[in-house]
Amino acid sequence: MNSGKYEFLRVRRRFRQPLVTAHGVVEFVDRILLRTEIHDEIGYGEISPWPSFPTETVDEAREVLRSAQCSLSHLTATVSANKNTYPCLRSALSSCAAWNQIKSFSGKLKCAGLLTAPNPSLAQAKWGEGFKTIKLKINTQTSIADIKSILLVAPSDGSLRLDANGSLDLAAARSWTEFVRGEKQIEFLEQPLPVGHAGYASLGPDKIALDESFLAPGGANWGGPVVVKPALVGDWQEFHQWRTSHTGPVIYSSAFETAIGRQAALWLAAQESSTLADGFDTLGRFENDARDYHSAGPTVAGRSDLDWAKIWKELS
Ligand SMILES: [Mg+2]
Repeated sequence: MNSGKYEFLRVRRRFRQPLVTAHGVVEFVDRILLRTEIHDEIGYGEISPWPSFPTETVDEAREVLRSAQCSLSHLTATVSANKNTYPCLRSALSSCAAWNQIKSFSGKLKCAGLLTAPNPSLAQAKWGEGFKTIKLKINTQTSIADIKSILLVAPSDGSLRLDANGSLDLAAARSWTEFVRGEKQIEFLEQPLPVGHAGYASLGPDKIALDESFLAPGGANWGGPVVVKPALVGDWQEFHQWRTSHTGPVIYSSAFETAIGRQAALWLAAQESSTLADGFDTLGRFENDARDYHSAGPTVAGRSDLDWAKIWKELS
């Protein structure tokens, strides 16, 4: 019986300009690309953890891939035996399993523009490119006045999302929450407090979105908006089951994947019909490494015209 096999490839991607987050400076990310083969069916997936998110590391995922010795049945048995572990590897395996549908996906999605600094002229440039929603990183250095200066130049149909990446304390989170709830052009404040912070109960779910915390135990019960990174969310069938019971809005978001992970993440995001913009404005940020094949902009789309076997060969 053919129980399937796999091969994998570790790649490093260096940012053109180091990415400044609330947790430090990210200069590069490592990814593992996965190719599975079972009964002549080929699948591709990508293991792309993101610094400071509660998942396995690339090294931990690689250890599992090594010890299963390229037997797909051994790999899936190891992963299934360790419940609630290896979410990135589970996501990659889900991508491999659905690859026949993923590779033929060419649908379009509305995309939010990503700004890494609260700069009104950068925001204006994004609005000028046609983005309606802009997502902005904030930290303890950002002031409410900074955000007001951006709202001043916002078009009347433009909106903002603020993402603190868990960097605020409870007092700061409270004043930001009050501000965000009073501004109609701000959609939500994302991850104000660290993962597991008890203060979330007192802030409440109205216009408070979870991202990092959604992946941690208990996060899935949040009644407010939830940001889902397909690359980090774990098994996609389990995710779909959760999605049918969650009534709050879900925003899908990239974890800076290569074209393999991006094609899969766009496909997963398109499984739901949403009027909200998703977070895929992550292209063009790496040194030219021939691992991006999609187009950027306020509308993003899957590509059904790519020769993935050829791309895999070029990557290997
Ligand atoms: Mg976030």
